[in-house]
Amino acid sequence: MSSKLDPSAQKLLAARVNYYREMGIYDFYRRPVEEAPELALQTAGESTPDAEASLPSPLSIVQDKPAALKAIREDIGDCTRCRLHKGRTKLVFGVGNVNADIMFVGEGPGADEDAQGEPFVGRAGQLLNNMIAAMGIKREEVYIANIVKCRPPGNRTPEKDECDTCSPFLMRQIDVVKPKVIVALGAVAAKNLLAINDSMANLRGRWYDFRGSKLLVTYHPAYLLRDPRQKKEAWKDLQMVMKSLGLKGPAKAEQE
Ligand code: URA
Repeated sequence: MSSKLDPSAQKLLAARVNYYREMGIYDFYRRPVEEAPELALQTAGESTPDAEASLPSPLSIVQDKPAALKAIREDIGDCTRCRLHKGRTKLVFGVGNVNADIMFVGEGPGADEDAQGEPFVGRAGQLLNNMIAAMGIKREEVYIANIVKCRPPGNRTPEKDECDTCSPFLMRQIDVVKPKVIVALGAVAAKNLLAINDSMANLRGRWYDFRGSKLLVTYHPAYLLRDPRQKKEAWKDLQMVMKSLGLKGPAKAEQE
């Protein structure tokens, strides 16, 4: 088989490579195949424009958010990129509404999350659910993810190299969901997302621009469980989010 592609196949290949780039996939590996079946199929017809139309455009890919998230999950695979995989029961990808206006980003899975494969399902998750309900929305309406997708042993803080290895997948999730507001829960989330090493006192209380979203930092629910006096500060943060999105809080009947 000739290794040289004809011009229309080259064009299709370039479009396909671009489409993967749009998805944030940059590394490609050659597989020995008799013939590239898709290209063979698409170059069989006379008309290149028709063949091109059969390729999903980058725009339609972004619109197909579930498919884009599925592709990210598949890229992660049965991940062994960092040492956290060794203690993992379930990888915790993220959960929620692919069209969410709000994305909450925590630190990393704890024991309950590791067992169930879903973020914020333990005690801290209960409190996060209450915080979300206080804003007048439902957990199912938001998107929830973490900086690292595997539980650090003994719930220790994830190391920098672990965060650096895992967070590119979170960035891709953010780029797909495109929330209006990202709420960074706690110092680990805030410092990793913003690449700023500062105290929570300095990081809170202001908006940041982040990948086309507005980002706000608030206390991690696990910290609020340890120091409930800070709940009113966290509530001030959530009210900033509500104001920016025009959320009015729960209807009166739900408050009673
Ligand atoms: N703490 C986090 O940061 N994330 C979770 O998913 C659960 C607890």
